[in-house]
Amino acid sequence: MSIAPATPAIGMAQEQIHRHNVGTLLRHVHLGGSVSRAVLAERMGLNRSTIMALTAELSAAGLVCEERPAGRGRAGRPSLVVRVRPNWAYVLAFDVAVDRLVAARVGLGGAVLDRREAVRQRAGADLDHVVEVLARFGRQLHEAAPPDSVCVGLGASYCGMIRPGDGMVRFGPDMGWVDQAFGAELSRRLGLGIPVPVGNEAHLGAQAEQLRGAGVGLENLLYLHGDVGVGGGIIVGGKLLDGDGGYGCELGHMVVNPYDGRPCGCGSHGCLEAEVGERALLDAAGRPADLWGRDALRAVVDDADRGDELAREALRRVGDWLGIGVANLINLFNPGMVIFGGMLRDVYPGAAPQVRHRIATNVLPVARERVRLRTSGLGDDSTLVGAAELGFAALMADPLGVLARA
Ligand SMILES: [Zn+2]
Repeated sequence: MSIAPATPAIGMAQEQIHRHNVGTLLRHVHLGGSVSRAVLAERMGLNRSTIMALTAELSAAGLVCEERPAGRGRAGRPSLVVRVRPNWAYVLAFDVAVDRLVAARVGLGGAVLDRREAVRQRAGADLDHVVEVLARFGRQLHEAAPPDSVCVGLGASYCGMIRPGDGMVRFGPDMGWVDQAFGAELSRRLGLGIPVPVGNEAHLGAQAEQLRGAGVGLENLLYLHGDVGVGGGIIVGGKLLDGDGGYGCELGHMVVNPYDGRPCGCGSHGCLEAEVGERALLDAAGRPADLWGRDALRAVVDDADRGDELAREALRRVGDWLGIGVANLINLFNPGMVIFGGMLRDVYPGAAPQVRHRIATNVLPVARERVRLRTSGLGDDSTLVGAAELGFAALMADPLGVLARA
C-alpha cells in the first residue's frame, strides 16, 4: 500500500487527537463516577455523536458500560449514563511509609478492591525486605483477582526523593536509603512484565487529595504529609510543582528555627520537620526516647484531649512551629486549601489554635482571605490512592493501546 507523503502526518495528528479524546473521556468517568453523555459532551467540548462513538469504543474494549439514568427525566430520550465497568480493569498500588507497607488492588474508578498491609521495622536500609514483602502481596492480590479481570498498571509511593522516570529512590533519610533502585527491583520481583513508576509520598498525596479527597475542584492547594518527618506537595494552577529534577516541595526541610533548632535527619538544624515531626512532639511531651510510632503519637494527642497539661503544651509548641511554616507557605503560594495528612491528621486538631493564630498574625490579609484548613479527605490512604493514580496514568493516556498490550 502506498501512501502520499502528506497523508501520514495528517493521519498521525488525527490518531493522536482521537487517542487523547478516548483517554480524556475515560478519565472523566474514572474520576467522576457515572457521568451522562450530555455532561461529557459539555466538559469535553465535543458533540454528542462524537461522545457516543468514543463511549462505544471504550465499551467494546470492556472499560466502561452505559445505562439509563435512575428515575425518569424530562420528556424525550434521556442521556445515557457512562460508568466504569466494575471489578475488571485494575492497578496494583504500593505504599511504603516509615512504619508500614501497603499493597492494594484498585479498580478503574478508584475503589480499593483488596489490600494487604504489614508493619515495617525501623531497621535501616531495607530494600530487599520491602521489595520482598510488596512483591509477595502484589502476586497474592493479582492471583486473587477475578479470572477475566486485567491488570493495566502498577504504581508505588515511597517516603523519599524519587528520580522521575525510573523509580530510583535518591534519598530517603528516615531509613538511610541512598540511590536504591526500588521501582526496578519491585517490577522485577513482581514478574508481571510491567514497570513500576514511583512517586514521592507527599507529591502523590497532594494529587490524590486534589483528584479524590478534600481538595476536589481546587487548582491551588498545599498538602503536608506527616510520617516521621514532614513531606509536602504544592499544586499551583492544577499542576504539581515538582521542580527541575523532580525533587521539589520538600516543605519539611524549610528552615524555620535556624539558631537553636532541633537537629534534622537531613543533617541541618531547625527544619520544619525537626520542629513538628514525630520526635519533636514525643520529646516535648516528655516521652522516653525508645518510644516512637503512630500509636505513641496518638497517645500524646489522647492525653491532651483528656486535659494532660504536658501533652497540651507539647501540641501547642508543635502547633506554633507548624503555624510558622504554614504561614510562610500561604504567603508564598496563596493556596485555596491547606491539607494535613498522615500523622499530621492526628496532630492538627490539637494544634489548630496555634496554626490559626500564626496565620492571623503572619499571613498578609488578602492572602489569607479564602484559605481553608482541612485534614486529608482520604484518611491514611492519600498516598496509596496517589500511587494507584500513578498506575492508571498510562491507561488514561492511551486506553486502547494499554489494553492491547495487557
Ligand atoms: Zn531537614
